[in-house]
Amino acid sequence: QCPWGAPNTTSISCSLADVMSEQLAKELQLEEENAAFPEVVAVAEGPFITGENIDTSSDLMLAQMLQMEFDREYDAQLRREEKKINGDSKVSISFENYRKVHPYDSDSSEDEVDWQDTRHDPYRADKPTTTPRRGFIGKGKDITTKHDEVVCGRKNTARMENFAPEFQVGDGIGMDLKLSNQVFNALKQHAYSEERRSARLHEKKEHSTAEKAVDPKTRLLLYKMVNAGTLETITGCISTGKESVVFHAYGGKSATEDKVIPPECAIKVFKTTLNEFKNRDKYIKDDYRFKDRFSKLNPRKIIRMWAEKEMHNLTRMQNAGIPCPEVVILKKHVLVMSFIGQDQVPAPKLKDVTLSSEDMKKAYYQVLNMMQQLYKDCNLVHADLSEYNMLWHDGKVWLIDVSQSVEPTHPHGLEFLFRDCRNVSQFFQKEGVAEALNERELFNAVSGLNITADNEVDFQEEIEALEKMNEDHVQNHGKKLSMFSSDGDPPIYDE
Ligand code: ADP
Ligand code: MN
Repeated sequence: QCPWGAPNTTSISCSLADVMSEQLAKELQLEEENAAFPEVVAVAEGPFITGENIDTSSDLMLAQMLQMEFDREYDAQLRREEKKINGDSKVSISFENYRKVHPYDSDSSEDEVDWQDTRHDPYRADKPTTTPRRGFIGKGKDITTKHDEVVCGRKNTARMENFAPEFQVGDGIGMDLKLSNQVFNALKQHAYSEERRSARLHEKKEHSTAEKAVDPKTRLLLYKMVNAGTLETITGCISTGKESVVFHAYGGKSATEDKVIPPECAIKVFKTTLNEFKNRDKYIKDDYRFKDRFSKLNPRKIIRMWAEKEMHNLTRMQNAGIPCPEVVILKKHVLVMSFIGQDQVPAPKLKDVTLSSEDMKKAYYQVLNMMQQLYKDCNLVHADLSEYNMLWHDGKVWLIDVSQSVEPTHPHGLEFLFRDCRNVSQFFQKEGVAEALNERELFNAVSGLNITADNEVDFQEEIEALEKMNEDHVQNHGKKLSMFSSDGDPPIYDE
């Protein structure tokens, strides 16, 4: 007796159960794959493609980035397996060839991708139980099922022609080759994978410039927000700056009942490049709120801190009742806030809007009041205040872009305030607001200080002297003056 049992005499082993389970498995895999990106598909075909200057390709890219992430993890897994098998053996095997194949069977996604915050519930039976399609042709006695070896074998060989044109099927087509369903399906699957892969690689190249705006990790983060339902759709880019990229999105549903996500959101992505954040050193390095943390942090964490800073500052402003974006959620270096504007159109910057002289005057007094509130109630100096960071919406001025804002006792806080005052004063004077205070008057009005110098140079000198005094105080007493206000509250200016 043969120790391996009786030799199998049938040329092709192809039991019904075998084929059925194989087919079913493949079908499930395909379905699963199709179900994997439903939102993204919806996004790509969504109703918002109509806008002109809106880059809708970003949604498609999100899906692609996620795919890339999967692929990358699959490759990493392969490499681990390879290492495990090879150990320090002299003869090693390589999984290199498998790396090209789309990872249908990969389940290595847990380690890098954090799925906790996605809506996917692994315990829910969401796989549809499919009944295999009608698997036969003919009637009565002449029924030929798709499992008939000879008929199917020939048909399968012929159908190989329908694979993607780049897919090498060999010269089997001219011959009377009979492929078993199992082999055929495996081949089909492989051809399909290859087709997708080459499409992916192609697209990767095409989008490489657009991708520079947002890196793969950020894309994944954004995708997860959509997947988690926080955001309904990300429609496109509003602004690309040196230090940030801002996207528009429609809000989704909140996981918790008490927090309502605004119908339209702005997503500010802080850029994670080294050279850009260097410009901002001077703001954050001396901000005592971040002092202890600064020295220990790597660039990536510092970028996150900018986002965090913007979030905290916006919250302070919100609490003080200053019109500004409302914080929705912060994830790493991505800050989601309410959108100032409507129907994907951001509110115009003050520099771009044409206002009646009456509205302009109203805007001026509002800005003056907001600067005072910011200083007094929020204990903040905007530090980048100008007509570029003020939006005109709903008949009033909204302040944005506060990641660089500092407390007045920041070693350069008063200098930043003076610069803000100069910008504001010059803008409104240029716009013909006769009531607009000059920069020095404005500075005193906002800070409550009483610097009497009547020229800019002396004024600046006094400011720096005050800052130095504060620094000395810090040196001697280990803590800052609570505020620079010398004689109580700043005077109230009003219409
Ligand atoms: P940057 O540091 O790049 O100047 P900003 O916060 O000023 O970053 O955002 C850049 C631009 O994006 C703004 O000028 C404004 O047009 C738009 N923007 C930013 N936040 C919002 C928002 N919440 N709603 C509407 N538009 C916004
Ligand atoms: Mn700005």
